[in-house]
Amino acid sequence: MDFETIIEPFKIKSVESLPITTPEQRKDYLVREHSNVFGLKSQEVTIDLLTDSGTGSMSSEQWASLMRGDESYAGSKSWQRFEEVVRELTGYKHIIPTHQGRASERILASICVKSGDIIPSNSHFDTTRANFEFAESTPVDLLCKEGLSLLDPSDFKGNVDLEKLEELLKSEDGSKVPFVLMTITNNTGGGQPVSMENLKLVKALCEKYKKMFLLDACRFAENAWFVSQREDKYKGKNVRDIAKEAFRLADGCSISLKKDGFGNIGGLLALNDDQLAEDAKNLLILTEGFPTYGGLAGRDLDALAQGLIEITDENYLQYRTRSIAYLGEKAISYGLPIVQPAGGHALYIDAKTFLPDIPPHQYPGQAIVCELYLLGGIRTAELGTFAFGVAGENGENDTPATHELVRLAAPRRTYTQSHFDYVAEVLEKLVENKDKLKGYEITEQSKFLRHFTAKLKPLA
Ligand SMILES: *Cc1c(COP(=O)(O)O)cnc(C)c1O
Repeated sequence: MDFETIIEPFKIKSVESLPITTPEQRKDYLVREHSNVFGLKSQEVTIDLLTDSGTGSMSSEQWASLMRGDESYAGSKSWQRFEEVVRELTGYKHIIPTHQGRASERILASICVKSGDIIPSNSHFDTTRANFEFAESTPVDLLCKEGLSLLDPSDFKGNVDLEKLEELLKSEDGSKVPFVLMTITNNTGGGQPVSMENLKLVKALCEKYKKMFLLDACRFAENAWFVSQREDKYKGKNVRDIAKEAFRLADGCSISLKKDGFGNIGGLLALNDDQLAEDAKNLLILTEGFPTYGGLAGRDLDALAQGLIEITDENYLQYRTRSIAYLGEKAISYGLPIVQPAGGHALYIDAKTFLPDIPPHQYPGQAIVCELYLLGGIRTAELGTFAFGVAGENGENDTPATHELVRLAAPRRTYTQSHFDYVAEVLEKLVENKDKLKGYEITEQSKFLRHFTAKLKPLA
């Protein structure tokens, strides 16, 4: 359309009321949960930006698919529809449904990874990393140098450093590499895209050194959208065609369909290699289910098939990436440092730059997370030393994480422009309150993934 305003390309058919709370209530809830927003009940949260995973809204066509769901144990029509859509999109020979991304990763790690292996990537997502480490291998992140600099607004900050990748592949350690895994978009690195050129050069290296090339393609549509906007050779090209081309560069993929599958649950593993696919299916039967449903109901497969058709709608992708970029522009105008450019699924606040006086072991990211909740009932996620640091002996001397980030992840097709305006207003207030913010200390924590359950208290 010829107007500047980008509208939500959908209208609303069913609504769910948003809980509106008072500042006093929010304070009580946060005290009750020891300053950990994972403990909050959803009815205590006004705008929930904790994650974009499984939190999106289904379309009326997806709800219709649920009714069409065929619950036959083997060979259901819903499975056939799912397989057909995934094959059209990816072109892979073997398609294996799973209940979510980490189930695919677990199977992949069991069939392809052995003790002592090295798995290079642009950046591994945390569950992917955990599954490869559980298989006693070493996942390594070889992100390009633009990607390492938070405030540099380069176009393709998700690219892998090709020189470092080739150095590894041709070294003695190269023989320990079972495959190269590229994450599109790069969730851990701020939701940044990977260029088609970078993917093609990774493919060429994999061919040269005879390695399998796999994609962690949770956000394949957002990646393809950015390619269509930023990469000269692809400007103006059809987004679905770009996504199809990306899949066809690799030999297989793992996907959490809770992201660009428009699903509330679901995942898949796809492989071209016959032997690996057979091994994967045998394991699937052991833990997920028969290969034509893999841990999902027929109705889920049907809704996911429909979601995978809808996700490459360019009007949707424009609205989605524009809402997040808009929030980013607002944040910058208030002087709030963010990872630039804004990512495909989330805005990331750079807490270290914003709160230089709060050291990593006092969790500056968590100070922002708590303040955003207290100010406006917005739930966000700390991705810094609280989540990824290694706990020290007395909690005082944690090994800090590389970055101190706060992620505002947008659920798909869920919030409208005025919700984003509201979030922007709360961000402005956060900047006004900057000098009042205090660090936190952990009073209780578990050994693994402490941020889900740890108790904290604000420092005096
Ligand atoms: C979410 C995610 C996963 C894991 O998927 P789950 O469905 O949460 O198990 C893996 N990789 C990336 C890049 C993700 O964003």
